[in-house]
Amino acid sequence: MSLFERASRHAWFMVGALALAFLFVVVVDQYFGHSSIAFGIAIVGLVAANARMLMFNCQTCGKNVFFRGIFVVPWPNRICGKCGTDLSDPSQIR
Ligand SMILES: [Zn+2]
Repeated sequence: MSLFERASRHAWFMVGALALAFLFVVVVDQYFGHSSIAFGIAIVGLVAANARMLMFNCQTCGKNVFFRGIFVVPWPNRICGKCGTDLSDPSQIR
């Protein structure tokens, strides 16, 4: 599997994690009243789940595929923004 495929799988995982975190906050709100603790848990959980994104770096130059310059986006680069390596090419795997 190419780096791009693995990174986009992670992006989808984060979509699911975000939905779950949202549901968790809504459910807690519904049954236990408004809780900033639930919100805090959801945020910490999301940050922990997203820590994996730091592992998706370009094989050639090491640039993270989720970074566009100084910005972080939820979807990975197919082509490395720094060196132009095609990250969707499965033969590029280290
Ligand atoms: Zn690169």
